Amino acid sequence: MARIVKKAVSKKTPAKKAAKKTAPKTKNVEPKKEAEPIMLQPPRGMKDILPDEQGYWDQVRRVTERLSRDYGFSRIDTPLVEFSNLFNRAVGEGTDIVDKEMYAFATKGGDKVALRPEMTAGIARAYIQHGMSILSKPIKLFSTGPVYRYDRPQEGRYREFYQVNYDAFGEQDPILDAQMIQVAARVVQNLGIKAVQIQVNSIGCPICRKEYKDLLVNYLESKSNKLCQDCKRRLDTNPLRVLDCKEDKCLQVAAAAPQSVDHLCDECRLHFKNLLEYLDELDLPYTINPRLVRGLDYYTKTVFEIWSGSEEGRKNALGGGGRYDGLVKMLGGEPTSAIGFGLGVERLIIEMKRVQAKPYRAPKPKVFLAQLGDLAKKKSLKLFSELEKNGILVAESFGRGSLKSQLRVANKLGVEMTLILGQKEALDKTVIIKNMASGEQETVSVDKLVDLVKKKLKTDNVVTYHDNNHNNG
Ligand code: AMP
Repeated sequence: MARIVKKAVSKKTPAKKAAKKTAPKTKNVEPKKEAEPIMLQPPRGMKDILPDEQGYWDQVRRVTERLSRDYGFSRIDTPLVEFSNLFNRAVGEGTDIVDKEMYAFATKGGDKVALRPEMTAGIARAYIQHGMSILSKPIKLFSTGPVYRYDRPQEGRYREFYQVNYDAFGEQDPILDAQMIQVAARVVQNLGIKAVQIQVNSIGCPICRKEYKDLLVNYLESKSNKLCQDCKRRLDTNPLRVLDCKEDKCLQVAAAAPQSVDHLCDECRLHFKNLLEYLDELDLPYTINPRLVRGLDYYTKTVFEIWSGSEEGRKNALGGGGRYDGLVKMLGGEPTSAIGFGLGVERLIIEMKRVQAKPYRAPKPKVFLAQLGDLAKKKSLKLFSELEKNGILVAESFGRGSLKSQLRVANKLGVEMTLILGQKEALDKTVIIKNMASGEQETVSVDKLVDLVKKKLKTDNVVTYHDNNHNNG
């Protein structure tokens, strides 16, 4: 509906008159458009991660970062946006990710870019660009952040989701493949998800895969009338992907299809055999899954997925990855062996909740700082930061004036002690420490407060990440 704008009756204020004098005269001014209503929700398939949920996210961050350090990974962060052709080339045209699911667009400057649909391509690009090949090998990189796929949203499948990604460059020995699978399993288990299934397969190198692909296409063409529409298309674009289609009729065709492990060249067969021996040595139970192909162009030899132990495990893999020995060269770098995997954070959290694994609980303050009167209020702001700089977690409610209501908050929070700063204390440079359990109070000098509070608190409430330069902060 067009907005009716009343013509202003000349009631000009001096300011309006001045504005009229200086305003440039514009002809053909477009009529004001009705403002579109703001949608109070993010786009479909994306969601907020609210404070209540963050305990699970913190736990994932802590476990994944800790394991990345323990296993010698260095953190890398690459842009969310890359040139589209990086993904077209690395992930591969003909894959669902590139053909259907990529958020690709042209910038105002005309660059063709895309939101990353996975992390490895950007990391391999950075590896080449920054000449990391001169570093001592393997070069292990850890990354985490959002990725974007324009998929049909459902439980465990979003358009914006988070991954943790571990990649290692410069080592072709299958011992590294085994170690990467071990890291993936450790992450999941350290999050409290004890029952996991490790699925492995080898899809060979470009040489043996070509022979296998021809064989597979021959077989699939003979059964094409039994395939779903998508798989009929995949027969031309990405025949291996037919093997992991979840449609019942395609599953039946896939069950009798030739298997890549039966058609590996000598080198790939030995690589796979050694990998399985290492996994045995690690006591990591695995299943050889001939239908696991992972569908991205860059994979070679080892591919693997981590499924939850539940019935539904297969439908929503917790993570997966594999070797991509050809990727760095394909993108213009030196031939470089590499392997990596990604875990989906939302899926990990869904599974953590299902098995009732514990989220991380940040320590709660055991000290409350109460103030009474103008001077005390002013001083309390600084006192709070003094305590914080010394690693003491403190709660406050500076906006409240009455001591009674502040003590009510302190009680609600269940703190061990409340520090009370009134007008007298502010002048005397003292603070009252009130023991909330016994009600006992003592007055101490501000200079001695930090040490005294620390002594009274159990050490787990003193955060030790502060460095010694806290006076500079
Ligand atoms: P992929 O490389 O496609 O196998 O992705 C690696 C992991 O990311 C998967 O195992 C999932 O845990 C997660 N993931 C992939 N796609 C989605 C999605 N659309 N929504 C949520 N998580 C996803």
